[in-house]
Amino acid sequence: MARTLDTATREALVERVRFYRDLGLTEFYRRPVDAALLTADPDEQPGAPGLASETWETNSKPILFQEDQPIPSRKPTPAPPQVAAVPAAERASALQLIRDEIGDCTRCALHAGRNRLVFADGDPNARLMFVGEGPGADEDAQGLPFVGRAGQLLNNMIAAMGLKREQVYIANVVKCRPPGNRTPAPEEANTCTQFLFRQIDVVRPEVLVALGATAATYLLGARQPLAGLRGRVHSFRGSQLIVTYHPAYLLRDPRQKKEAWADLQIAMRELGLKPPAKD
Ligand code: SF4
Repeated sequence: MARTLDTATREALVERVRFYRDLGLTEFYRRPVDAALLTADPDEQPGAPGLASETWETNSKPILFQEDQPIPSRKPTPAPPQVAAVPAAERASALQLIRDEIGDCTRCALHAGRNRLVFADGDPNARLMFVGEGPGADEDAQGLPFVGRAGQLLNNMIAAMGLKREQVYIANVVKCRPPGNRTPAPEEANTCTQFLFRQIDVVRPEVLVALGATAATYLLGARQPLAGLRGRVHSFRGSQLIVTYHPAYLLRDPRQKKEAWADLQIAMRELGLKPPAKD
């Protein structure tokens, strides 16, 4: 018997599974549900959209969890070749050209729900660049990346490294907010990262920090649990790439801040930075 979850339950469920996904857990099992616990929705019509019987049916086989849209479950599209270096004095205008080319973008489905496209923020000549997953509600409203609670935490992380936000460059895998903050679908991410890669080529940061599993997936071109990617230096388009937790995840589980700080210290080592002296 099918039942449709109410919006609040559905969002809570998605949030919980995101939490597990950040931990690198992607396989879930369906447990048989007592039919007496399920009540039919009188408004439901056969074939109506929503979480239909497939969600509640008994099934002992392991499944890859799917949110509203599938989380990246296959290899991302290979990144295009790196373009020639842009002189430092011309990087701001080169980035503006990319922004102009994106325009009022409708290249993927995410355009339909956005208020503002979030291109990037920060110094075009930054030595350090952060890449997150995609805009949330605050970012969508302001047109800037990482300006909500997670952004405040990212600002604190940057300050702990002895830097100011204006000294780094910040962008996301996708530039438009996915509905309900879901993970971008592969088609959306693969379409939008073609611009992200060009931004990286222009900025040419010495160190790139991938914030969370989605950023790591699309930068490294392989879907792997975060645990296997953290704690070492990768290489991407001429930059040293460090993988760490997304600040939104750290807000949900502050115990992992220590681990994230260890990752940031790797980035600092690569940049030759020392933590600021405490007052
Ligand atoms: Fe265009 Fe990227 Fe927005 Fe999709 S997410 S509509 S590709 S700017």
